[in-house]
Amino acid sequence: MKILVTGGLGFIGSHTVVELQNEGFDVVIIDNLSNSSLEVLDGIERITGKKPHFENIDLREKKSVQDLFVKYQDINGVIHFAASKAVGESVENPLLYYENNINTLVYLLQELQAKQKTHFIFSSSCTVYGQATTMPITENAPVQQAMSPYGNTKQIGEEIITDVAKVTTINAILLRYFNPIGAHPSAEIGELPIGIPQNLVPFITQTAIGLRKELSVFGDDYPTADGTAIRDYIHVVDLAKAHVVALQRLLENKNTEKVETFNIGTGTGSSVLEVITTFEKVSNTKLPYKIVARREGDVIEAFANTDKANSVLGWKAQSTLEEALASAWKWEQKIRR
Ligand code: NAD
Repeated sequence: MKILVTGGLGFIGSHTVVELQNEGFDVVIIDNLSNSSLEVLDGIERITGKKPHFENIDLREKKSVQDLFVKYQDINGVIHFAASKAVGESVENPLLYYENNINTLVYLLQELQAKQKTHFIFSSSCTVYGQATTMPITENAPVQQAMSPYGNTKQIGEEIITDVAKVTTINAILLRYFNPIGAHPSAEIGELPIGIPQNLVPFITQTAIGLRKELSVFGDDYPTADGTAIRDYIHVVDLAKAHVVALQRLLENKNTEKVETFNIGTGTGSSVLEVITTFEKVSNTKLPYKIVARREGDVIEAFANTDKANSVLGWKAQSTLEEALASAWKWEQKIRR
């Protein structure tokens, strides 16, 4: 079985390629290296003993996408990670985001339609729920007005796929990720944020290693137990495995709808202070941090109800927050050596 993974050298994509190869899939990665490096291929090979096929293709170039499907006619499924993901940058340059996250999706779907391909998995996000009124969040919670162009590309992406699936052979699974963290336990691959990290855990590990002076905690006056915001942190390897089971569901024609949606999280919410304390424990470090004002656009709390993924996909996150943070720390220490 040959699987195309777009953005397969990125953080979540590379971990998913590892799990796909571990399950015996033949993987073709396309990536334009805009937020990743070729060395990731070596990391994947060191873990799995196999180098995936790699094509340096920019999905914005429609002709390259067409040529790809001519070169690899036997693609059985597509997992689409490639996108830009910096919320702040998307506010400053919305067209960059609509081009890179929407045009690319359209080109890809056009090829899938033309070649009558059927199996498609899309990286969506819990940001589609905004500040949900009920915790934990189920897939039935309403999608709310996006707070950024980035968030909007995920909502529009879901709608495009749903419209297209209705009138084509395409069956799709939309995976709404909560907060992916951590790295492969081997520390051969992990997250490589460019510039100042926007997410908590890479900021924590970079502070602990001395790259950043101190961590800013955005707000301690939220209506939560300790006043800091709550998120559902999922180990990236667990998230990667969710893609494999979702893909298998499509390949075995077990899906009951043309487009199915699943929350992928742990089901547990952790506050920023809890993450800091847990990190200090697993890394045996003391983390310098200060409380600053809330950050615009941040919701108070978001954690998943994962019942649907548990029962329908037969998937459940296995790793604890401690394990995920320990793997992130091991990775940070390795890349700064
Ligand atoms: P990432 O930036 O590490 O990986 C994305 C990869 O896509 C990169 O390797 C980049 O070089 C590549 N890419 C970008 N534009 C491309 C293009 N035009 N052509 C070819 N390759 C291109 O990001 P990630 O964290 O692995 O996220 C993967 C997906 O998951 C994205 O769609 C993202 O929006 C989504 N997502 C991420 C998170 C998160 O917190 N990391 C949360 C929810 C959803």
